[in-house]
Amino acid sequence: MGPGNEAMATNGPNGGPLIDISGAIDMHCHPYPDLFPRLADDNDVAVAARAAGMRAVVFKCHHESTVSRAYHVARQVEGIEVFGGIVLNSYVGYLNPAAVDAALRLGGRVVWMPTVDAGYHAQVHGGTGGYDTQAGGRKSAEGVWVVDEEGKLKPEVLEIFELVAEHGAILGTCHLSPAEIVTLVTAAVERGIEKVVVTHPFFKVPNLDLATLEELVRLGAYPEFGYCTVSPAWHYATPEKVAEAIAKVGASRCLLVSDAGQRHNPMPHEALRIFSQTLFEKGVGQADIDRMIRLNPIDLLELPSSPSTVSDIGSGAVREMTGDQARTV
Ligand SMILES: [Zn+2]
Repeated sequence: MGPGNEAMATNGPNGGPLIDISGAIDMHCHPYPDLFPRLADDNDVAVAARAAGMRAVVFKCHHESTVSRAYHVARQVEGIEVFGGIVLNSYVGYLNPAAVDAALRLGGRVVWMPTVDAGYHAQVHGGTGGYDTQAGGRKSAEGVWVVDEEGKLKPEVLEIFELVAEHGAILGTCHLSPAEIVTLVTAAVERGIEKVVVTHPFFKVPNLDLATLEELVRLGAYPEFGYCTVSPAWHYATPEKVAEAIAKVGASRCLLVSDAGQRHNPMPHEALRIFSQTLFEKGVGQADIDRMIRLNPIDLLELPSSPSTVSDIGSGAVREMTGDQARTV
């Protein structure tokens, strides 16, 4: 057993390597208020994440902008950064450049394409507004597509691209169809958007295959894997599948997020920890975990790197260990 292994083994007070989420950033969680039932509200999620030593959280809501919510929580909960964005569902007028403009000028960091109101979501789930086991929003048969009948991006999407590029914001692909996502990402990159995130690639929507995911990464996109996708209640993918995808496309291009807030999942900070620990035990190295929950989010949010917030588990020896080595400890 080398010194690295010893360091790792003594890392947790209860024995065995424990992934530490201090300094981590959850780029995607779902607090209340929301039309879906939630486990906790904005304040409680932020306070709990701060208690876990996390650096920042990003709130996502299917039904309204979270930009002002994030602003107020950040004012009230010191010691953690809080960000918001806007999801382009029916509630904000679908692909509405005015809503995007306001959200970004008020400090929003993410523009998410339609989720539960996407045309593809409706096709797969039999209507908009809800999931197989959860109802929340307004249900209608047809959702919105970002492309027209010829497969070309709608003009309002291009207007939104301009705003996203101008503000250096993050573009999330959400519940669009696989073909739409490829079209969207290709065009977004061509138009100078540098931060494109492929939202939960293995969730029921879009459920991308690995070849498509690799193509998107080649174009410059960041796959964002969420705990919610592998959660016991929904389990659209296994942790093994996520670990395999990370190995294939490289952790330097990936994000791990909780995508939590549902009542059947742990609190977002704990969901992120469980997800990180699970992937570590499935062979993803600690340095790669660190990149996906801390360094890549820092880059995407353009935050100053602040080593003081990271716990001292990150000695070089420990970081160079692979998950495989660590499991044998
Ligand atoms: Zn989500």
